[in-house]
Amino acid sequence: AFGIPQLSTGDILRAAIRARTPMGLEAEAVMDRGDLVSDEVVNGIVSERLDQEDARKGFILDGYPRTIPQAEALDQMLVEKGMALDAVVEITADADTLTRRIVNRAKENAGAGARADDNEDVIRNRLAVYREQTAPLVEHYRQKGLLRTVDGMAPVEQVAAAISKAVGA
Ligand code: AMP
Repeated sequence: AFGIPQLSTGDILRAAIRARTPMGLEAEAVMDRGDLVSDEVVNGIVSERLDQEDARKGFILDGYPRTIPQAEALDQMLVEKGMALDAVVEITADADTLTRRIVNRAKENAGAGARADDNEDVIRNRLAVYREQTAPLVEHYRQKGLLRTVDGMAPVEQVAAAISKAVGA
């Protein structure tokens, strides 16, 4: 709708793993466990990506920031680039539903590039990591007046419409 790129740190890291780059090789075991890659590495990814031409008129960050230090690093990057966040979208869903959806995604992608971290044990850790390291960002961005919460339990079309509305698309 906005004609701006979607920048997913997870996608960039998975591409680095496929390409067997040093960064990919370092991140692979961490990602397979469902832990977070270091702030330093992901901040570096985002900083480089935001410098590319197609991000100059705006961008959607997907899966970043995931820790308070990442949010602080992002603020610094945006100040340097003379940009600011318009909105932060939180999509909520309960843990059982998320687990079911991810297990289904793994089945749908079986064979054709299913994610190594899409299995029940790793999902449990990803949810714990979210609660410990990422959930504090909700309050952080609420205080800045940027938080928009969308009910992710609704059907896909409704969730999509609610996100569009939240970002004024
Ligand atoms: P995602 O595709 O967003 O689900 O991310 C998959 C995995 O990549 C995560 O479980 C982390 O191991 C890693 N990752 C992606 N984004 C970040 C981030 N912002 N900070 C740390 N690790 C990340």
